[in-house]
Amino acid sequence: MNQHVIVTGASRGIGHAIAQHFIDQGDRVVGLSRSGEAPSGCAKSIAVDVSNSEEVAAAVKVSIEEFGPVDTLVANAGITKDGLAMRMSDEQWRDVLSINLDGSFYSARAVIPSMIKARNGSIIFISSISPFVGNPGQANYAASKAGVVGLARSLATEVAGRGVTVNVVAPGLIDTDMTADIGAARDAMLAMIPMGKSGQPEDIASVVGFLASNSARYVTGQIIAVDGGMSMGL
Ligand code: NAP
Repeated sequence: MNQHVIVTGASRGIGHAIAQHFIDQGDRVVGLSRSGEAPSGCAKSIAVDVSNSEEVAAAVKVSIEEFGPVDTLVANAGITKDGLAMRMSDEQWRDVLSINLDGSFYSARAVIPSMIKARNGSIIFISSISPFVGNPGQANYAASKAGVVGLARSLATEVAGRGVTVNVVAPGLIDTDMTADIGAARDAMLAMIPMGKSGQPEDIASVVGFLASNSARYVTGQIIAVDGGMSMGL
């Protein structure tokens, strides 16, 4: 494979594993993150705040100038700022929506023209099972991740006739910095997972890799939960 792949949030956790997956199969990967860090095998890494539309557009422009049309975008960058809704500040709400939802939209909007022109492309949004299972303290996060699902489905219909697929991967409990300090919530979540264990970033990366591959060329507008069975039936 020699795809041009852009991964947001490539510096750590799930995004790092996704970037590494594509690097390992010989793709040209451009990693975007706030810190500008990315796996060493990336063709390029760029420091970008995904909640800033101008920064995102500029980074994608540089990436296209250097590596040609984007074959795959993985909109993965995300944060949590948990708290009970009645005590949640405007800033807590806005920061999570800005990065998780606005950032996903800005990233997708920036790559679509090159994909449509090439009549080829795959956009994969990393959402969460949070909006489907209802985690207390995550009103902002769940709203942002539900928004990503709506964004993906609407976009999927807009570009389906142009050879571009749009899908959502919804991780369950995955071991990363994001879930390192969730305390008792971890045990509560583990009790809800039929497989009885948390997942690893590589478990998400392999499913993203499938969705970006020719094997998934007839799959669009779908949500694939990767969660050890936690959300089954929802
Ligand atoms: P993580 O380890 O905390 O990594 C988050 C990544 O997002 C980092 O690379 C970070 O870059 C980047 N990022 C954060 N804010 C950014 C911004 N404003 N602009 C650009 N990059 C930004 O989190 P993770 O667990 O890998 O999560 C990755 C995605 O999976 C997120 O969308 C998350 O909501 C989703 N998810 C995770 C889980 C889980 O259990 N871990 C479950 C469901 C969904 P810097 O380090 O440079 O700041």
